[in-house]
Amino acid sequence: MAERKFFVGGNFKMNGTKASLDDIITNLNTVNCPVTDVVVAPPTLYLDYVINKITSQVQVASQNCYKVSKGAYTGEVSPAMLTDIGVNWVVLGHSERRHVFNETNELIGSKVKHALESGLSVIPCIGEKLDEREAGVTEQVVFEQMKFIKDNVEDWTKVVIAYEPVWAIGTGKTATPGQAQEIHEKLRKWLADNVSEAVAKSTRIIYGGSVNGGNCKELAKGKDIDGFLVGGASLKPEFLDIIKANA
Ligand code: PGA
Repeated sequence: MAERKFFVGGNFKMNGTKASLDDIITNLNTVNCPVTDVVVAPPTLYLDYVINKITSQVQVASQNCYKVSKGAYTGEVSPAMLTDIGVNWVVLGHSERRHVFNETNELIGSKVKHALESGLSVIPCIGEKLDEREAGVTEQVVFEQMKFIKDNVEDWTKVVIAYEPVWAIGTGKTATPGQAQEIHEKLRKWLADNVSEAVAKSTRIIYGGSVNGGNCKELAKGKDIDGFLVGGASLKPEFLDIIKANA
């Protein structure tokens, strides 16, 4: 069976100042956890600042990017600009992009395609809202989101899927280890049925939604949970415990 290296992403969202990032970076630079891939996503404005201060064992992601390389798109950032300053990763389709900024599956799919073509690795995010879970349509929603990602991916070695139930993001309501494992297993089966058995076995599927230093070890036991995308707790010292959840 293909090895899936544990993967922990820190999504700082729209938080931070140079001074607060200095504290986070100082803490992150003490990390010594070769069994985990660590990627942090500071706000766009601070990407260059963080890249220049972080050690090479932590990689840097953008929280978003646009679907073309340059042009008259005021306020946007392109994958070409990200790679130019040394960013290797991008988070796409985060639930806040989908639900606060109304990004559609189509737009997210085209961003995934262009980011991959531009040499970035991508962390596409999927997840159902509370009313969708309560209506029993979680699987339909996440499989539909997966379809738009799948249609735009050729090289799956550059993709880490983040399953983040919207009702668990920033709410303190974590999915139980059982709830998370159940959907991760279904997503892996979906990959086997719709892409290939090999891709299903080797693609990392990480969980996000109120992960913290206290619940990470239990969640990490799920056999299809290959790591985490962490929001709030990635700004705190406990992020280091999450990085070591599987060590
Ligand atoms: P949270 O955010 O850990 O604060 O719930 C997760 C995310 O949005 O990626």
